[in-house]
Amino acid sequence: MTKITNHLPTAELQALDAAHHMHPFTNADVLADRGARVITRAKGVMLTDSEGEEILDGMAGLWCVNVGYGRDELAEVAARQMKELAFYNTFFMSSHVPAIALAAKLAELAPGDINHVFYSSGGSEANETNIRMVRRYWDQMGKPDKHVIIARKNAYHGTSMGAASLGGMAGMHAQGGLPIPGIVHIGQPDWYSEGGEMSPDEFGLMRARELEAKIDELGEGKVAAFIAEPIQGAGGVIVPPDSYWPEISRICAEREILLIADEVITGFGRTGNWFGSQTFSITPDIITVAKGMSSGYVPIGGSLVSDRVAKVIGSDEFTHGYTYSGHPVAAAVALENLRLLEEEKVIERVQSDIGPYLAEKWHGLADHPFVGETKIVGLMGSLALTADKAGRKPFASEAGTIGYMVRERCFRNNLVMRHVGDRMIIAPPLVIAKSEVDVLIERAVKSLDEAYKLARDEGLLKTAD
Ligand SMILES: *Cc1c(COP(=O)(O)O)cnc(C)c1O
Repeated sequence: MTKITNHLPTAELQALDAAHHMHPFTNADVLADRGARVITRAKGVMLTDSEGEEILDGMAGLWCVNVGYGRDELAEVAARQMKELAFYNTFFMSSHVPAIALAAKLAELAPGDINHVFYSSGGSEANETNIRMVRRYWDQMGKPDKHVIIARKNAYHGTSMGAASLGGMAGMHAQGGLPIPGIVHIGQPDWYSEGGEMSPDEFGLMRARELEAKIDELGEGKVAAFIAEPIQGAGGVIVPPDSYWPEISRICAEREILLIADEVITGFGRTGNWFGSQTFSITPDIITVAKGMSSGYVPIGGSLVSDRVAKVIGSDEFTHGYTYSGHPVAAAVALENLRLLEEEKVIERVQSDIGPYLAEKWHGLADHPFVGETKIVGLMGSLALTADKAGRKPFASEAGTIGYMVRERCFRNNLVMRHVGDRMIIAPPLVIAKSEVDVLIERAVKSLDEAYKLARDEGLLKTAD
């Protein structure tokens, strides 16, 4: 077999890819037809593909490359750790320095009394831990009936059985017989699509109170926890109305349930604070982390756990764990990533410099005839595409048709901007420069213009009745 390198022609790489590689969230027949875009290297916020094109990565990979690509510091720490101690487990009374040092650092950074970490290799695994941990907690508290977890429609918590069940994506539930028992969903705080005639704050309160109603319906003695992303990411960067989180906090304080904040995206600077819980004044019992924890350089995640929960869980053996829980190389790289975020004041810059700079330009897109709403917190933003600026009505075409058109234009214009249905979303590396923000906006406008003309020519600028 020929050696497969960067120097093979793109078509050959694409053919091998389609023949042997099953991709996540991909229709393989379509992929085989069109060929994957093969990324060969990256530096800062720029990707290079196998054709030598330079692409601005407006999504930080999958919301994770917070410190940008190509950081020597992280590569060197990984090499050093592999030579010193490539692997040891953390089961059965063993530990190692990277896992210890990272745990202490996370305890220092996490809000409130969250001082403990249970490691995983990613966000889905961490949410699996959370399901077992909150149920075990109430079990140990002498309340084994408190086992139901309330989650939200259109939430994303990963793709393993438990995590996808927590998630509220109908298309995912339809594959594999989900959700698993004991997980129920309430509405999401998406005012733009679902708020109707209500004001955003009225709608936010209404959606928050669905939690209270659901607890009453099930009985407080049956409910273990509520899980939510501070800002829904994969659901379309849905920023809740201002009234939402304070009301959720009130309900959680009054009721005997645990609150899990899934901060796999909002953690580690994305919203301008270390955690989205700080941005929204949320006091969770457990925080799910992954992605930006290592800036995506190595797979690592975890559940950050409060003193109260950790004390109860720790009073007996918790029969749970992953071979790679606290993997030394992953832990060492994550710790170095946190050092870079801290010493280079990356998060302060998101809050008071590059965040406001991007926000101003992003909100400027609201003037475009195709754009019905712009939202941005820190460096995660979304815009709703529309053919009816005032009425907030969806397009007549199947949801996602127009979003996909815009995304395709972006792709050709060398900008990675994702679509979720007919919303466009961005989450660039936190180290993006102002000149790069300008390029991002320039390419976004060009793509919106082109897609708008295309949609108009194809008669797709129509709303549903
Ligand atoms: C990506 C994501 C996950 C899943 O993480 P994986 O590492 O892909 O398992 C969970 N929750 C949220 C909010 C995410 O964005």
